[in-house]
Amino acid sequence: MTTEEVAADQGLVRVEAAVKRFRTPEGGWVTPLDRVSLSIRDNEFLTLLGPSGCGKTTLLKAIAGFEDLDDGEIYLDGQPLSGTPAYRRPFNTVFQSYALFPHLTVGDNVGYGLDVAGVAREERDSRVGEALRLVSLEGLDRRMPRQLSGGQQQRVALARALVNRPRVLLLDEPLSALDRKLRQAMQIELKSLQHTVGITFLFVTHDQEEALTMSDRIAVMDQGQFLQIGSPAEIYDAPTNRFVASFIGSSTVLTGSYRGGRVRTAGGLDIAVGTRAFPEGEAVDVVVRPEHLAIAAVAGRPTLPVTLDNVVFVGSDLHLHGRLADGTAISALHRHARGEGELTPGTTLQLSYDPAALHVMKGSKP
Ligand code: ATP
Repeated sequence: MTTEEVAADQGLVRVEAAVKRFRTPEGGWVTPLDRVSLSIRDNEFLTLLGPSGCGKTTLLKAIAGFEDLDDGEIYLDGQPLSGTPAYRRPFNTVFQSYALFPHLTVGDNVGYGLDVAGVAREERDSRVGEALRLVSLEGLDRRMPRQLSGGQQQRVALARALVNRPRVLLLDEPLSALDRKLRQAMQIELKSLQHTVGITFLFVTHDQEEALTMSDRIAVMDQGQFLQIGSPAEIYDAPTNRFVASFIGSSTVLTGSYRGGRVRTAGGLDIAVGTRAFPEGEAVDVVVRPEHLAIAAVAGRPTLPVTLDNVVFVGSDLHLHGRLADGTAISALHRHARGEGELTPGTTLQLSYDPAALHVMKGSKP
C-alpha cells in the first residue's frame, strides 16, 4: 500500500512509514522496520507473517508501546500514539511464554488487571467468569497454573488479555509452544473466539499454515518491509513477487519472457500460460504449484515432462518430487487411490496442466 492509500484508508490502527533501527553489539545496524505502512481494520484478524528476524515482533512492540519508533507514526482512531505509554493504550499482548503468575490461581491471574484497576468485586468476578467461559475454562478458576496443561495455560493468558476488553489483542506466536495437534485445534478456537468477542486481533507467526488458517488478511514481511498484504486466497493464488510465491505454500517459480500466451524460460522450457495482460517480450515469473500438475492426461491440455526423484506417501496424497528438463526442481500432488500402481523414481512422466491455473507475475530478479 502506498502512503496515499494508507491515508485514505481510515483503519482502526494505522502504521505510517514506521522506521526502527537497532545498533548491534557487533557494531553494525539492523533495520527491522524500514518505512512500513499498514492499516488494521476494526474487527479483523490480521497476521504478520515472515521468517525469523524480519521485524514482526518489533512492529508488534511498537504498536503495543514497548518500543519507540525512529521515524513514522502509529495512529489509533486517527490520533497519534507516540507519547502514549503502553499501559494507557487500549491494547493487550499475549506472548509465546504464557507468563502467568505461578503463585496466583487461574481466577486471580485473569482478574489481576481488574484488581489493579480497582474494579468492584462483583463486576470483577463476573468479568473473570465471562473471560474463562470464552476460553472454555469455566470451573477451573481455583486451580494453580502448574495444575493445567500447556494449552490450558495459554487459554488463561488469553482470558487475562481479554478480560479488560482491549480494542486490539496483540498475539506474539502464542501457539508455538504447543504440540502440533493442540496448535491446530487452538487455531480454529482462536479464530472463532475473535468472531465472538469482536475484538481486532493482530497475530504474529512465521508459520504460513497457521496464517492461512486463521487470518482475514495476511501481511507478508521480509527484512523490515511488507512484500504483500491481502486475504489468504489472494496471497496464495496471486502472489505479487517471488518471495511471497515461495514462502507461502510450495511452488516452483520459472523465469522467462512472455510471448503470445506462452513463456519461454532461459533453460529452454516452453510453457503455455494462456492470454495475459503482458506486453510481448516482458520478463515474467510463472508460479507452478504442486496441485497444478496432474498425472492423468487431460484432452487438450499441455504437458510438462518431469523426471521423478522420489515419491512420498502421506496417506491421502502422494507427493511427487522431480526435475524438469532443464534440471529445475518441481513437485506435484497426486490424490492417492487404493490399489493404484507404483510410481518409480527415474521415470519421466508427462504431467498435464491447465494454463489458466498457473500464476504469472511481473519478473523479479531470481
Ligand atoms: P522471530 O520470528 O524470530 O521472533 P521477528 O520477525 O519477530 O523474528 P524481530 O524480533 O522483530 O524479528 O527482530 C528483527 C531484527 O531486529 C532481528 O535481526 C533482531 O536481531 C533485531 N533486534 C530486535 N531487537 C533488537 C535489539 N533490542 N537490539 C538489537 N537488535 C535487535
